[in-house]
Amino acid sequence: MNPNAFDLVVLGGGPAGQKAAIQGAKAGSRVLLVDRARSVGGACVRFGAIPSKTLRETALALNRLKRLAGQLTDITLPARPTLGSLMRRREHVLDVHEQYAQTHLSTNGVSVWQGVAHFLSKDEIEVRRADGSRERVSARWFVIATGSHPRTPSSVPVDHEHILDSDSILSLSHVPASLIVLGSGAIACEYASVFAALGTRVTLIDRGQAPLDFLDAELGARFVSGFEAAGHTFLGEQSFESVSFNGHEVEVALDATQRVHAEKLLCALGRSASVSGLGLEVAGIEVSRVGFVSVDANFRTSVPHIYAVGDVAGPPALASTAMDQGRRAVCHALGIPLRAGRDAAPIGIYTIPELASIGVTEAEANKKYGEALVGRASFGELVRGQIAGADDGFLKIVCSPQSGRLLGVHAIGETATELVHVGQMAMLGGMRYDAFIDAVFNFPSYAEAYRVAALDILSRERGRNAAE
Ligand SMILES: Cc1cc2nc3c(=O)[nH]c(=O)nc-3n(C[C@H](O)[C@H](O)[C@H](O)COP(=O)(O)OP(=O)(O)OC[C@H]3O[C@@H](n4cnc5c(N)ncnc54)[C@H](O)[C@@H]3O)c2cc1C
Repeated sequence: MNPNAFDLVVLGGGPAGQKAAIQGAKAGSRVLLVDRARSVGGACVRFGAIPSKTLRETALALNRLKRLAGQLTDITLPARPTLGSLMRRREHVLDVHEQYAQTHLSTNGVSVWQGVAHFLSKDEIEVRRADGSRERVSARWFVIATGSHPRTPSSVPVDHEHILDSDSILSLSHVPASLIVLGSGAIACEYASVFAALGTRVTLIDRGQAPLDFLDAELGARFVSGFEAAGHTFLGEQSFESVSFNGHEVEVALDATQRVHAEKLLCALGRSASVSGLGLEVAGIEVSRVGFVSVDANFRTSVPHIYAVGDVAGPPALASTAMDQGRRAVCHALGIPLRAGRDAAPIGIYTIPELASIGVTEAEANKKYGEALVGRASFGELVRGQIAGADDGFLKIVCSPQSGRLLGVHAIGETATELVHVGQMAMLGGMRYDAFIDAVFNFPSYAEAYRVAALDILSRERGRNAAE
């Protein structure tokens, strides 16, 4: 047997690549996973979800403590705390996660090579190993899962010291006194709110009217009002002419007269696919106008036995969807039937307060089904929210006006990213809103919000019927 002939070769060992490789191995295929990094994990482990959420957890804990301690004790951070001191658990979390991922791959029999891969043809890649040696590898199927990196427009001179991207922000030595964030997507808003919670004065600048415009409009509006009420600034519908560091501070020229200054700037203007040097053109793989690998509904590229999954194939660019795509692509390649379920993927935005969403927005439902049934629950109405002093959140359920079935859930506030999964299961089960009225929920809990929101729909419906 040719040792370098595999059934499946996966390029990239982030969440998408790992799940693709494990799915292939579980189905009995001979699988090779190649990653240029020393250990698997991808952006998620090194610059993405895990480190950013570790920093957020500290900011969140501080916030909670300040809120609950009230006037009992004065909780203040030391002047200019180091970022490292706020992320002490990061190395431990990373080590445990990397170890788990490596073990999971090896116990499933996946061969893992460290090296940089590129296509020599549509059936063969070359791997440049860490020691400089080169090996040719052939396979029946390939999965490209090489991820993405921060997109930096030429007008933003990122120097990784004063003007940073979402990778280098984690190497800041101290929490800055002030920060400008360019962009208003998930990464921009997450870092803006985390630094705001750590005491930084934050200005968020974006060309859009509201941040996170892919979510239900009420969530973005509530996020901005909380952010501004805490003394920070959102400059919407705003483009910039230039960004520079003048020796003391960063300056953003909005137009000929308006300037914004801060100690540091984070450029969070999207992500670009990591395809440079992959030899896509040699293999005949097409990319989209904006540089992502073009795929069909089964994640097949223009070359049918080559798949692309995760960030390299474009939005939504989440670790959660990347893992699902990796698994689905390999099931498709191997002819393993899969149940549907992709339409019900939740979105979690780990801002402070956190945001979560699944299914259609209120506006989309109105457009598609006529006037949707919408129920709201303020966390201030929940005993749990009152006890925790977290009464600023809310949950909204959107239901079909014809059948009463749950079509969407949108939440902001404590545990929103967990809470959304209750709605996800109800949607997968095709449940109507009144199922929440008949159910018993733990008391006191945030999940009671579903019952309150369903009762809100019921009382509106009764009011409407009475009026008719
Ligand atoms: C700040 C931040 C916060 C985030 N927070 C969240 C979150 O809370 N929740 C969430 O779901 N998602 C989050 N994400 C997104 C998430 O990290 C990505 O969607 C996910 O990592 C994408 O996985 P992937 O496998 O497609 O790519 P990646 O994780 O980028 O992995 C790609 C791998 O390919 C390797 N590679 C690249 N080129 C080659 C080559 N030529 N040869 C060999 N190997 C190669 C790289 O070394 C890398 O290990 C966040 C991202 C960022 C930046």
